[in-house]
Amino acid sequence: MTSKTSEVYFGSVQHGRPARYASIGRKLDEIMKKLDLSTIEERDKVAIKMHLGFHEGYQTVPVFFVRKIVKAVKDAGGYPFVTDNPTAVYNAVERGYTSETCGCPIIPIAGVKDGYTKTVEFNFGNVGTLELGGVLHDADVLIDLAHAKGHNACGFGGVVKNIALGGYHGPSRWTKIHGVEASIPWWNAEKCPPEHAKKLVESCPDNLINYDEEKHMLSLGFGMCNQCMECVEADKDVGCLSLKQENFSMFQELMARAANEILKTFDEKKQFFLNFAIDITPACDCWGVGQPHVVNDIGILGSRNIVAVEQAALDLIAKEGLIENMIPPYYRNVNLDPAAKLHPFARLHGPMKDPYLVTGYAEKLGMGTRKYNLIEVLTPKKMLRKKPPTGVSEAAASFF
Ligand code: SF4
Repeated sequence: MTSKTSEVYFGSVQHGRPARYASIGRKLDEIMKKLDLSTIEERDKVAIKMHLGFHEGYQTVPVFFVRKIVKAVKDAGGYPFVTDNPTAVYNAVERGYTSETCGCPIIPIAGVKDGYTKTVEFNFGNVGTLELGGVLHDADVLIDLAHAKGHNACGFGGVVKNIALGGYHGPSRWTKIHGVEASIPWWNAEKCPPEHAKKLVESCPDNLINYDEEKHMLSLGFGMCNQCMECVEADKDVGCLSLKQENFSMFQELMARAANEILKTFDEKKQFFLNFAIDITPACDCWGVGQPHVVNDIGILGSRNIVAVEQAALDLIAKEGLIENMIPPYYRNVNLDPAAKLHPFARLHGPMKDPYLVTGYAEKLGMGTRKYNLIEVLTPKKMLRKKPPTGVSEAAASFF
């Protein structure tokens, strides 16, 4: 992958006419055309890796769009299947995803029991190996189909996070990737008497610090930490605790590395990336709950370059900014100071969770370029020049 500028195709939710020819659905069709699926070969097995939500977390890529992508793959001669972690697959029907509605099979990414995997060496911080989903590994083509939203551990979840976490089996995600922040020492046990450790536990308003008295071991939930620094303040006379940018950056760097290992299993010409920046919630789809959208709907971005499409989505979200009255009341420490140079998701999740970090690491790894040309399809301006539609509503019952 070179560092030249990459093309990112964009379809805005804004439309120039209340007509099908100008609709967001048609814009997706146009983006799929521009992405040029001709590099998919007859009968290639095409993994459409998406988040199918969880329990009541329904704010994922609507099945309406999934069907369109499935059809485009079939038209190109490929054999598509949707994939995600096993539990999300098994209860996907609750959120409207079935083989019938999607138009293709839905297959768990690491097999029926989440145990069909390929071991990948990382030796990064406290992470030795991760288990890559075997079903994803078996596929010939990757369509990385992401719902763009906030994420408590890294600020943002888009196409990188979709495969970096979602491409590995459960224990890899939950106990290894989520936990890498602690690779860099942040607590000095010798300097911390047990009574002080208990005081630190009490200092966190979000109950993120735990103390195992028997082992004299403190643990901290970096993934949910908003860097309010109340624990550091409580520690100022002892000085046994420090929360550094490097701790939080470990998660971002591992995400880039984990995504890179997955991309290495696919031919460069058989990788496609889509960020759906609609229903942009503050936290990840795996919370299993409905959430308010904290950024206005933006649209659909597609590219052959994972870094460019992630960077473009981040930039468009930054331009849009947060909808302040939609921020849930349990978000403490939100920085709404207009003078602060922070991405909206760093305002929400804390300054050390800068979502741009991941594209920087990904670029350094040679995964692509942050430089992009944003090419808007079926622009509202152009569509406005077209004749207004006639017969928008159905005059008589029809089947098609
Ligand atoms: S910085 Fe704030 S949120 Fe994070 S662990 Fe310390 S007290 Fe808790």
